[in-house]
Amino acid sequence: VAKRRRTHGWQVYVEGSMELGRELAVLGEELGRAVADGEMRVAYQPIVALSSGGLAGVEALARWHHPTRGVVPPATFIPLAEETGHIHGIGAWVLEEALVRVKEWQERLPKSIYLSVNVSALQLERPRFAAEVGELIDRIGYDPANLVLEVTESALVNEATALAHLVELRTRGVRVAVDDFGTGYSSLQYLSRLPVDILKIDRSFVAELNGDPAGAAVAEAVIRLGQVLKLDTVAEGIEQPAQATELTMLGCDNAQGYHFAEPLAADAMDDLVSRAAHGWPSLPEERVGTA
Ligand code: C2E
Ligand code: MG
Ligand code: MG
Ligand code: MG
Repeated sequence: VAKRRRTHGWQVYVEGSMELGRELAVLGEELGRAVADGEMRVAYQPIVALSSGGLAGVEALARWHHPTRGVVPPATFIPLAEETGHIHGIGAWVLEEALVRVKEWQERLPKSIYLSVNVSALQLERPRFAAEVGELIDRIGYDPANLVLEVTESALVNEATALAHLVELRTRGVRVAVDDFGTGYSSLQYLSRLPVDILKIDRSFVAELNGDPAGAAVAEAVIRLGQVLKLDTVAEGIEQPAQATELTMLGCDNAQGYHFAEPLAADAMDDLVSRAAHGWPSLPEERVGTA
């Protein structure tokens, strides 16, 4: 059992650590029942349009409310779900839950917002992934123009099945975002030929924004690249007001981060939508905390 796992995120799992191995095996088994037992939740993090301060969308982030361990973070359970194959059930559940919820909110808001959902590389290998997403959208009656699928660079590069799914979904109006952009290995030349609409600037580059030009180099380069390739740019991990100001000046389109709002439980997001029915509270003046 003490073999090294291939999936990223398990470097902690070293030779001979039987204790941890058993622990993970138990957790993996429990993960298989988590959806059916109602332990999975979706948290929603507001995505703000930098030019207006208005609500542009929300990112769905999975949360596992374990009965004895408390909230298990996705950094722990997503890699485990990928290894055990439970990612397919969890991914499908998150997508359906979030589509239904966001459709409700759209009906109460004066302007449409989009839903951004993280999709694992393994889900994109499913032969019927695009068909399944299409069927779900149709069944719920969700406008595909308001759906964004977030994928990582490595899920796209030389992955014919994944690319075909994204091409198919884009013909229906679904948009594709490259998550954590700049941390992977895709070449810039390749990027212009990928079925992609949005670049999400990784928060490690946002953290380097400190007012001096050297710190802004990568974020600025990604924003310029987006402008040239006609891709929207979304910055993640904005924690300081000055970072929002700098990104706005650089021409970044949208942003998310604790400075605006933390990921919110569905009920807290629901309250926010009710208060926003007559115009989104002008963030960041009305910073939103955790629920
Ligand atoms: P991600 O997609 O890049 O999501 C952004 C992460 O940054 C989230 O962590 C979010 O809570 C966190 N974050 C947001 N604003 C700030 C900030 O201002 N500062 C800092 N330090 N962090 C901020 P979270 O929710 O723990 O999710 C971690 C990762 O797990 C996600 O990274 C995503 O890759 C994965 N993940 C989450 N939910 C799902 C899911 O439903 N399916 C899949 N396949 N992956 C998921
Ligand atoms: Mg994401
Ligand atoms: Mg991200
Ligand atoms: Mg990230």
